[in-house]
Amino acid sequence: MKAIVLFGSPGSGKGTQAKLLTGCLGVPHISTGDMLRGEMSRSGGMTNAAAAMQSGLLVADDLVNGMVEDRLAKPDAVNGFILDGYPRTLPQAMHLRGWLEGRGISEVVIHLAVDYNIVIARLSGRRQCPKCGTLYNLVLKPPQRDGVCDLDGETLAVREDDSERVISERLAAYDRQTRPVLDYYRTTPVRMLEIDGSQESPERVSEMICRALKTDDRT
Ligand code: AMP
Repeated sequence: MKAIVLFGSPGSGKGTQAKLLTGCLGVPHISTGDMLRGEMSRSGGMTNAAAAMQSGLLVADDLVNGMVEDRLAKPDAVNGFILDGYPRTLPQAMHLRGWLEGRGISEVVIHLAVDYNIVIARLSGRRQCPKCGTLYNLVLKPPQRDGVCDLDGETLAVREDDSERVISERLAAYDRQTRPVLDYYRTTPVRMLEIDGSQESPERVSEMICRALKTDDRT
């Protein structure tokens, strides 16, 4: 059973790594950000959550905890999962720990550490295909044709919460509410991988993580 928590600030590359790792580990990628955006575009409901997201604040713990529990109960998560963007607060980390302990599982935490200036450059240059979700970056991973998705030709968009004002709010929320989760993991007996996500290409970073996790399995 692989219960992987991908941990890092906004712009640390969690989403990209989760997508690459899901190929290597064969377990689903569970992104609370994607789940929330999907739920909102489907139902148009969750107005409080939508308002929080648009201004860079975190959504209520109860809502996110419930959503994750429902998702972890699906059959494709029976052999493991990669959590991207969860837990983001101490109550969420405790909730997850309770859920895992009840099943005799312990999580492996991967901390993607990325320099602050790189985070800002990544977030402000980020573009996404509204149709297939592929992420681009104007500097690091530009599309072949300006402003257009390589895969389906759709016009790329800036995510609403990637505007400058919202970026600084998201980073402030990270410092205030999410960084303490890192301290919590560092002081509890969980397996933790500290990865420098600043230097290498995403593919190299993913290979490093994958190799470390597979070595773990053999020990
Ligand atoms: P992300 O795509 O992971 O950057 O998430 C986008 C936004 O969704 C965040 O800025 C939050 O508003 C919300 N969100 C995602 N995951 C969580 C979480 N675990 N707890 C609270 N809010 C979340």
